[in-house]
Amino acid sequence: MLRTTLAIAVTFATPLAAQQADTAAYRAQARAEVARLKAERPRAGPARNVIVFIGDGMGVSTITAARIHQGQLAGQDGESFVTAMDALPYTALVKTYSHDGQVSDSAPTATAILSGVKARNATLGVGPEVATGDCAAARAHAVPSIFVAAQAQGRATGVVSTTRITHATPAAAYAHSAHRDWEAAVPAEAAAGGCIDIARQMIEGPVGSRLDVILGGGRRYFLPQSASDPEYPDIRGLRADGRDLVAEWRRRHRNGRYVTDTRGFAAIDTARPGPILGLFQPDHMQYEADRAGDVAGEPSLADMTVKAIERLSRNRRGFVLLVEGGRIDHAHHAGNARRALEDTIAMDRAVAAAVASTDADETLIVVTSDHGHAFSFAGYPPRGNPILGVVAGPDGKPYRARDEKAYTTLGYANGPGAHDHPRADPADEDTTALDYKQQALVPLGSETHGGDDVVARASGPQAHLFRGTIEQHSIHDVMAEALGIAGE
Ligand SMILES: [Zn+2]
Repeated sequence: MLRTTLAIAVTFATPLAAQQADTAAYRAQARAEVARLKAERPRAGPARNVIVFIGDGMGVSTITAARIHQGQLAGQDGESFVTAMDALPYTALVKTYSHDGQVSDSAPTATAILSGVKARNATLGVGPEVATGDCAAARAHAVPSIFVAAQAQGRATGVVSTTRITHATPAAAYAHSAHRDWEAAVPAEAAAGGCIDIARQMIEGPVGSRLDVILGGGRRYFLPQSASDPEYPDIRGLRADGRDLVAEWRRRHRNGRYVTDTRGFAAIDTARPGPILGLFQPDHMQYEADRAGDVAGEPSLADMTVKAIERLSRNRRGFVLLVEGGRIDHAHHAGNARRALEDTIAMDRAVAAAVASTDADETLIVVTSDHGHAFSFAGYPPRGNPILGVVAGPDGKPYRARDEKAYTTLGYANGPGAHDHPRADPADEDTTALDYKQQALVPLGSETHGGDDVVARASGPQAHLFRGTIEQHSIHDVMAEALGIAGE
């Protein structure tokens, strides 16, 4: 079915598609699409594997703009381009509010997706009873993620992210914390109350210590302040407790493999038993647009996804894998649309790789986002206008705003791209440059999340349950249904 979809896409997503398409071609396209929808049959059986992709901050405007960018970069028609995410057969609209926030952050939203309950902003792996920073409440109201039941069933488990592996989204798989920022240390009062930091939970916690694949960034959070980073000798570990958690992980897992660069990553033989820990940067991994310039080299999100699937699929009982495209969000916070779109494209490649290396009869693939951003896609640019460009008329000349200046198609309601009065004229700037910050209205140091719905798209067993408009924490229950985890 996916192949049919892609074949249609190839037919229409050719350069100059708008010029080539006439009435008959559009009608044929619509008929083919409806035929595909009618032929799609729900897969009712249990899933052996579940792969959940979270594009952090990947709202609908990001999805659309990234699709067009991806098509335009490939020399094809961007608007009608079909991405791997687009080709997934089932879709639901997802409400993203948190227990206490109209607009949420990644900690409660990842908790909703992975544990099935709404939590308060900045809290992780705990119920709504827990106020931010309340260690005692967090200990009393920890909520198990879907990884707990998956491990109890004997399934393999893995976490992959382009952020620090202790960052909110990946941490929601294995940690419980009254504050998402307790990554390498907790405040003295919380320590006295028995709360431990997220990095320690990854190494010694009941879920973290049993993860078969861990790939991401954040080495500093596992190394003592006395240690230098292997890739950047000037950067030191962050841990004030003097512990070397990487060494502790290696002692715990004598058959484990620890890698820090592309050479070590490529050398991993996934047929060999034992867990894999890859920490590729002292902090977050590079943006996809900057990855080629990394000192020691980093695998792409698609590379990490494939490696994880190869290792986890050795388990006959199946696996659960979380893959986060984590830096879409960071580029948006910086008001930098190009890096956000290119990280979205990198996640789409990872989705394509997962679809290609799994069987839709046994693997539920879910692609969703935790929240959107204050990112707008607007104006009346003509078909084929460069997505990172200024809005131009049919004659190629930029449209002018009331201040006689041009404006870009992509922009932000707030953030660092806010201009002092009067604003610059984007027609005089290279708005497609890698470091260009789109203009914004309200001046904020960091652009903010959005409160609009996101989408969940899916293929495989129980994927048809993704329809209509659903609560974010119901995503957990669909995955649990597919895995045969009843009433958790
Ligand atoms: Zn964010």
